[in-house]
Amino acid sequence: MADSAASKRLEKVASLMRFKLLKLIRDSKRGTDVKMLWVDRQRGSSMNFSRYRVKPGSKVDLKDWDPDDKSASPGGKEEDAKRLLELAAHIDELQELLYAEARRGVLVVLQGMDTSGKDGTIRHVFREVDPLGVRAVRFKAPTEDELAHDFLWRAHLQAPAKGELVIFNRSHYEDVLVVRVHKLITESECKRRYELINAFERLLADNGTVILKFYLHISKDEQRKRLQERIDNPKKQWKFSLNDLAERKLWSEYIKAYTDALAATSTDRAPWYVVPSNSKMNRNLLVSAVLLDSLEGLKMHYPRLQQKLDGVVVE
Ligand code: AMP
Ligand code: MG
Repeated sequence: MADSAASKRLEKVASLMRFKLLKLIRDSKRGTDVKMLWVDRQRGSSMNFSRYRVKPGSKVDLKDWDPDDKSASPGGKEEDAKRLLELAAHIDELQELLYAEARRGVLVVLQGMDTSGKDGTIRHVFREVDPLGVRAVRFKAPTEDELAHDFLWRAHLQAPAKGELVIFNRSHYEDVLVVRVHKLITESECKRRYELINAFERLLADNGTVILKFYLHISKDEQRKRLQERIDNPKKQWKFSLNDLAERKLWSEYIKAYTDALAATSTDRAPWYVVPSNSKMNRNLLVSAVLLDSLEGLKMHYPRLQQKLDGVVVE
């Protein structure tokens, strides 16, 4: 009893401190651009995202990226956590601007093996965004109705409108990944689908949608640890299914499917980023920073009212 009262009090203090810290960051950050913050924290060297971006038309070998790479999280645990919170607060500010401007939409696509951390990325990167300002969509195995349409139909239905920020937790890419690994389509159908995906994403981009695609890159051994944790931890068992073990046996087939998909569909206007994700902090910081860089690049402004407001007084 006493214990639980004490821990409740502690929780209250912790949440108050977090609130104060956030306010402090927001107040001190007004007018500072995020690149500066990022550069400051990197002690003078700005983060080079291009090494994580899959160059359009290039050959891909996922071994070129180390899943253990932690270069996006160079600080100690506390310092990195503080920076993540700063970036999250800034994403919130830019999301409001995106909505106010209503000229462009943003689509964030998250893909990765089981346990790669798609849900966790959403929870941390978007934790400060106004719930009204963001929509996360989960793509499961298609329903009968979805299967009766073309494979891009359900993705198009969920694509962001102008002013919207939408996250795809899995996406239309499952239709060239799981579906290919399980041989539900032929190799030539898969190639045709890459073309259709590129055309679809070009259509979205032409209509003002910024598209960022992240492959959360974990090692096979990291997946082993995370699956074992799901089995051993009663709070995580609900996430586990025996089918996960069957899919794990197909690891190298999945790597091949990802490799080909990344090579065929990374374009200037819809690039893929390979995010080293054995470290959750590295993953969260890198996704946040790439997203912010892209939002900053839009050079958005609050719209001005059409009417002249000189002398208008609210009575
Ligand atoms: P989860 O992300 O753990 O909720 O699992 C969703 C499941 O749906 C995964 O096993 C995906 O592979 C599967 N899935 C998603 N999209 C498709 C698709 N187009 N075809 C077949 N399976 C899919
Ligand atoms: Mg799963």
